[in-house]
Amino acid sequence: MDSQRPHSDISSDYDVVVIGGGPAGSTVSTVLAQHGCRVGLFERERFPRFHIGESLIPETYWVLKRIDMLPKMQRSHFVKKYSVQFVNASGKQSAPFYFWDNKPHECSQTWQVVRSEFDQMMLENAREHGVEAFESVHAVEILHEGERAVGVTIQPTGSSRREVRAKVVVDASGQAALIQNRRGLRVWDPVLNKGAIWTYWEGAYRDTGRDEGATMVLQTADRHGWFWYIPQHNDIVSVGVVAPFDDLFKRRSGHERTYDEEVEKCPAVKQRIGNARRVTGYFATRDYSYRSTEVAGDGWVLVGDAFQFLDPLYSSGVLLALKSGELAADAIAEGLQKGDTSKAQLGRWGENFNEGVDRMRRLVCEYYDGFSFGNFVRKYPDLRGTITDLLIGDLFTDRVDKVWAPMESLNPPDKTPIPPWHAGTLATEAAEKVNTLVLPDGVRP
Ligand SMILES: Cc1cc2nc3c(=O)[nH]c(=O)nc-3n(C[C@H](O)[C@H](O)[C@H](O)COP(=O)(O)OP(=O)(O)OC[C@H]3O[C@@H](n4cnc5c(N)ncnc54)[C@H](O)[C@@H]3O)c2cc1C
Repeated sequence: MDSQRPHSDISSDYDVVVIGGGPAGSTVSTVLAQHGCRVGLFERERFPRFHIGESLIPETYWVLKRIDMLPKMQRSHFVKKYSVQFVNASGKQSAPFYFWDNKPHECSQTWQVVRSEFDQMMLENAREHGVEAFESVHAVEILHEGERAVGVTIQPTGSSRREVRAKVVVDASGQAALIQNRRGLRVWDPVLNKGAIWTYWEGAYRDTGRDEGATMVLQTADRHGWFWYIPQHNDIVSVGVVAPFDDLFKRRSGHERTYDEEVEKCPAVKQRIGNARRVTGYFATRDYSYRSTEVAGDGWVLVGDAFQFLDPLYSSGVLLALKSGELAADAIAEGLQKGDTSKAQLGRWGENFNEGVDRMRRLVCEYYDGFSFGNFVRKYPDLRGTITDLLIGDLFTDRVDKVWAPMESLNPPDKTPIPPWHAGTLATEAAEKVNTLVLPDGVRP
């Protein structure tokens, strides 16, 4: 199998080098290969490896289609997802937001994936398109000539470091964010300082029919946090709590105890997992949201979490990884054809992309400020479709902006405006903030 390809096959130069083989790295490299570029991808882990980020949203359909992943997804055993549903702090359930009702097209059905399997499928798919993808190869440093990136220094497991040259370097290294960290580009979000603890249950409650695969977002009674409830195949449900970092990790006694205490605050979750068996230990992360001040520079470009990370409330991470990968690949391919790999060319998609992420960010912040989907659609039934557009990830158009004024009309008059992302602190000035991921024994990142 191609994934066993030896490290001795690594070439000394490529058109494009991609760091990281998650959804962003696989997407950018597959689209580049479709454009006829020669791509070398370096992934430090050996797949399959654990990753969080299991609920897809419908707009992933278009990128999955473009990179020929759709038939594979349709043949897969991943649970089909048709809707998202909210349960408020007093246990009141909103009607499900069925994506199909808003857009009667096959794109309205998406999936709940197990990321170790999904990411491996994506990487194999990249290989099938001609990408030279190597696992157990750590990209250690970016090579520069002046300010221009010209390649990477890699460390294949078990052998010595070497240099690989490229006309363009794509950083798809996820939250490791190699270039963002080296260049001090990270700005922590000024309001979204959350953490998460999660585990997996077998035999937990599942709805039936088209509701079986619904993502549920369930608020805790104190309104400080919310649970995700993501049904997966083999009768497993991923159940995690997200809350302000301080609430989850300061003055609390261990992840298991904290998780149990949060479950107590959410009777709808307690009921659902009441007869289930926990099949893993506890996972925890600080998912401080952040964004890079730059999307690109001369000879380099950032995609996926290596560019920015938004609170996972609406399951937008994989969509943003896929979409940024696609947009960056088109900009790179065009640049290579024109002989222009400048910052302006490689990053020409960044502004519009950020506007889309800002829409999702606003919806996230409104929820944390008390926005209720149920109340909103009761008051503005004609906007149910537009809110659903945002939930499916249709973010990159100002058509959806008509929801904001009605949403504001429901806010108390003294509500403070949401600060923009760039009002946050530069990571270089906030040494105490770091992303960490705690895994149970026996689980590899
Ligand atoms: C608690 C939580 C819940 C989430 N829930 C959802 C959800 O339900 N739905 C959703 O869509 N998203 C969700 N996300 C977000 C999602 O996990 C990410 O947005 C997504 O994985 C980003 O993909 P990526 O390819 O950019 O990065 P990754 O998937 O992290 O891939 C990066 C890859 O780069 C490799 N790498 C890192 N450094 C190097 C290096 N130096 N050299 C070589 N390789 C390297 C890593 O091993 C990794 O495989 C969630 C995130 C969190 C924290």
